[in-house]
Amino acid sequence: MKIQKLARQEAQKIAAGEVVERPANIVKELVENSLDAGATTITISVKQGGKTHIAITDNGCGMEPEDAQICFERHTTSKIKTIDQLQDITTFGFRGEALASICSVAKVTITTKTADALEGLQLKIENGIIESVKTVASQTGTSITIDDLFYNVPARKKFLKTTATEWNRVATLFKAFALDNCHVHFKLIHDDTVVYNCPPTKTVPERIIQLFDAPLTNHVMGLSEFQENDISISGAVTTQQYARYDRNGIFFFVNNRWVKNYQLTNALTKGYLNVLPSGRYPAAVVCLNINPKTIDVNVHPKKEEIQFLNPRVVESAITAAVKTTLENHLSEQLKRTVSLAPELQYNAPIPPPPFNPLAELPFMPEEKIQEPEKKEQQAPEQKEESPEPIPVVEQKTLEQKGTIIGHYNQTYILLEKKDGLLFIDQHAAHERILYEKFKERFNEVAIVNLLFPITVQISTENMQLIEPHLEIFNQHGIKIEQLGPNQLAIKATPVFFKNQPINDLIEQVIGWVKELQQVNKEDFYKTITEKLRAQMACKAAIKAGYSMTTETMEQLLADLETCDNRFTCPHGRPTSFLLPLNDLERKFKRKL
Ligand code: ADP
Ligand code: MG
Repeated sequence: MKIQKLARQEAQKIAAGEVVERPANIVKELVENSLDAGATTITISVKQGGKTHIAITDNGCGMEPEDAQICFERHTTSKIKTIDQLQDITTFGFRGEALASICSVAKVTITTKTADALEGLQLKIENGIIESVKTVASQTGTSITIDDLFYNVPARKKFLKTTATEWNRVATLFKAFALDNCHVHFKLIHDDTVVYNCPPTKTVPERIIQLFDAPLTNHVMGLSEFQENDISISGAVTTQQYARYDRNGIFFFVNNRWVKNYQLTNALTKGYLNVLPSGRYPAAVVCLNINPKTIDVNVHPKKEEIQFLNPRVVESAITAAVKTTLENHLSEQLKRTVSLAPELQYNAPIPPPPFNPLAELPFMPEEKIQEPEKKEQQAPEQKEESPEPIPVVEQKTLEQKGTIIGHYNQTYILLEKKDGLLFIDQHAAHERILYEKFKERFNEVAIVNLLFPITVQISTENMQLIEPHLEIFNQHGIKIEQLGPNQLAIKATPVFFKNQPINDLIEQVIGWVKELQQVNKEDFYKTITEKLRAQMACKAAIKAGYSMTTETMEQLLADLETCDNRFTCPHGRPTSFLLPLNDLERKFKRKL
């Protein structure tokens, strides 16, 4: 006979593994219990990332002595009595499993008092059995401490990660709870040091300020409220000026439950499609409220994942909410920029000589791709051209028709449109155009071999950082060779980059390499490439304060039309701003 029935306690220890894998799981179950108990103050204290000690203290309803003595047995719950009630459940817990599981794998002390009781009750539990019970003086609420996690399950103890990793998970979970329950005063203590102390706040952005550092907190804004069908969305997101390389700043809550769902994250980043470079992510707190009948939270034993009946509807609602928020923010920002314009006029630098960006465009017109030299010779002739008076030109090629009526401050192209006056920032627009061209066809860029290679001195340390990545420069038309342990030689550059300080660019790339050391290889390469292209586009783009001929302005607008992300430059600054006719008429009191 081989089959044997496991002793009850052994079976319980195994079952516990489902809920209790690591300290963060315990913290999660206990904080959920505190929230279920109506607590408005919850303090979490852990030692060594929770591996040696966890304590949660709340000011919730507490337990009566009879309840306290059975709360840690299996299937004991005050939250449902029959399965029919599952549908209407509003609490986190209902299975009556958590305390039982925790008590079977750690030494637990429960201290609890209801508002009516004169004194509290303290129970010590070991191996799932009450070791001692006594009355103690205590505040209303419950305090649960966990010591010696997995002391009796050495196999699980081995799977605990480093203190830093376990602490990280606890801290992230803490942020999630705090973000989703602004009305609760949360405190997190690690190794006797208070790490977060978050009194209640009215809004999510205020909460974010308690939990995160600049620059994230400088770029956070409330999410435009969204309400449609059975879905409502609120929360906070970062502006287009903020971006990070990971998704760790993104939190989703569905009916007050923190969930991890790849599709939801995708829907969010889709909202940023035109404003953040690919591989960059915003930070966001998105709280969804949805008819509970249209979701299933029981797909995962720890209830961290979720399934929607109509995922597409939810996803497009999120994308729409984010888009609206960003658009509103952008137009607010632009209104502010424009109100500053008159001041700039007085400080405007003396404009440099006229410049023809067409002559300097990094891409040869199709038919001339094979003959970059010829193009170069033509360039000076065109440069001689002086800016003509600006004739009115119909922009028939423009998607939304408009007429160029001027060039303000040698920086902004003015395009008259039916519904208002469009200002286009020539530098931002050109930057966007170049960046997109670089993305599509960098291999077609014309290159010049330098007669005298430029040598660049760098430190041994920087050489070690940059040497493995010299190929990236090569792929961008900059031919670099290592001459010695501290010396690089630049032998060729793209035509349009000929007169740019390449050593600056190398310095910059070294900085990015340092910054991105922790990033995986694929993301690293993608990010560096993107940054390099954005930087080259920025350097090569026509600057503010340069005069332009009408033809070049036309060309610029036509090129901008073809860009996917024509509303912002690669750094996220806007390329254009519409002054609506209505607003103008209101200013002059022609209209109310
Ligand atoms: P569940 O949350 O699924 O009911 P648990 O094992 O987590 O199961 O908890 C068992 C019961 O213990 C709960 O139903 C609740 O009545 C009680 N309880 C646990 N923690 C607290 C707390 N912090 N405050 C008040 N009651 C609690
Ligand atoms: Mg519970």
